[in-house]
Amino acid sequence: MVDTTGRTIVIVGGGTAGWMAAAALRRFSPPTTRIRLLESDRIGAVGVGEATIPQIRLFNAGLGIDEDEFVRETQGSFKLGIEFIDWSGRGSRYIHAFGTIGRGLGLVPFHHYWLRHAQAGGASRYWDYSPTALAASRNAFARDLGRPELPSGVAWAFHFDAGLYAAYLRRYAEARGVERTEGEVAHVSLHGETGHIEAVTLQGGERLAGDFFVDCTGFRGLLIEDALQAGYDDWRRLLPCDRALAVPSAAAGPLTPYTRATAREAGWQWRIPLQHRTGNGLVYSSAHLSDDRAAEILLANLDGAPLAEPKPLRFVTGRRRRAWVGNCVALGLAAGFLEPLESTSIHLIQSGIARLLELFPTDPVSPADVDEYNAQTEREWTAIRDFLVLHYHANARPEPFWAERRALAIPDTLRHRMELFRQTGRVTAREHDLFKEPAWIQVLLGQGVVPQGHHPLADALPADQLDQLLSLARAHAAQVAARMPAHQAFIAAHCAAP
Ligand code: FAD
Repeated sequence: MVDTTGRTIVIVGGGTAGWMAAAALRRFSPPTTRIRLLESDRIGAVGVGEATIPQIRLFNAGLGIDEDEFVRETQGSFKLGIEFIDWSGRGSRYIHAFGTIGRGLGLVPFHHYWLRHAQAGGASRYWDYSPTALAASRNAFARDLGRPELPSGVAWAFHFDAGLYAAYLRRYAEARGVERTEGEVAHVSLHGETGHIEAVTLQGGERLAGDFFVDCTGFRGLLIEDALQAGYDDWRRLLPCDRALAVPSAAAGPLTPYTRATAREAGWQWRIPLQHRTGNGLVYSSAHLSDDRAAEILLANLDGAPLAEPKPLRFVTGRRRRAWVGNCVALGLAAGFLEPLESTSIHLIQSGIARLLELFPTDPVSPADVDEYNAQTEREWTAIRDFLVLHYHANARPEPFWAERRALAIPDTLRHRMELFRQTGRVTAREHDLFKEPAWIQVLLGQGVVPQGHHPLADALPADQLDQLLSLARAHAAQVAARMPAHQAFIAAHCAAP
């Protein structure tokens, strides 16, 4: 057991990353570890980042957060997946639903049985076996229906107001002893021999010294890059969108339990339903679309009145080459940004925190821990990158931006996955992959990658038995979804914001 008595951890930055780190480090560090957080009111936080994936429920559970209170306090809603519109041509539509799909029918994964049935002319869709997808299509949501066996396969995440989320975590963290300082870093002092960070000095002269630092300063990476020069892998060749415009609009229509991502001429538009407003944004490539045209597209495609001027954001997709350098770990945008298509950034904060807790810094810091942290981070980010590139590459849209994405030389790892699926229907999600088989299958199918075969062992089941089992699996999924109340009604009953 590492003796951390009397050590001080300084978190620089108080956006989503800073406050998630503060809450978790306070919750899990020894009480003798002092946790300080510095943030600048003048600079503020990026203020976007409002859609999540189901793993966040583990983070909340770790902190002991009550889910209904959390949704209420953040004006949140529930998220069953992401609906993709117009990605493989106008009028196309599919959902990447969370949770499991189908059930065990034999030795090989479920989708091979469905593929066998579909390849023999069967009419059902893969999504007919997903209670989560069916619930989303009905705008329905429930956690359990009084019969715990029923919602099996359903998984959910949240949409929330980013500002309210940071404020919620701040209350959590401060109530448990995290010390917040307001101010702006003017200087970062490094130790002459080790090169480790000794302290940050604020513009007013105050000095915050620490044993370990967490850089949560956003895109700039004030500590990890400006001071420690970790380096940045620029992934714009693969993920070319480099700007976004974000605008809230008045809530309109039923509260949908999913994020929507609609492909546009040189990027895509998000729609995130919250209780008090809808979050919208256009993510686009500045090489293919002017800012004025981007604003025009965004504002022409809102389903409620805009509540503010669109907020411009610029970024370079990629990752910090070393997320841990010396006595500093970068989390959040300071560690990199993969673009928001599959809502992975907040998750990457969470997994960075989990990794930091697992490799909690010894005193002095062990170089082997640092290497391990960085190697794990690289694997994780690269696998997510490939998943995102798939959405862009396997498209069927006519515009130059999309034609370029189709023609692009993609990473060998992704090319192999696509070929494997196309030829045999196989998907090999690896242990460290965030996205598992059902996610890959939905996006591959949804983007128009159609397998020519299926696992030969799926043929072991007699045809009449296969039809019967598939029909039972469909009925089960439909039954689960049909028992759920409307998402709006669920929120009204359990977690409506005042
Ligand atoms: P920031 O919010 O930028 O916070 C930086 C903090 O550092 C602030 O408190 C600031 O005051 C402080 N700071 C900076 N400089 C100094 C200084 N000199 N002195 C003192 N303090 C300083 N993620 C998702 O998971 N889902 C999404 O749907 C999603 N959508 C996104 C859409 C867009 C267009 C973008 C750009 C990002 C999106 N993200 C999304 C990512 C998500 O917004 C971020 O991962 C998340 O908000 C964390 O940001 P952060 O805390 O790292 O940085």
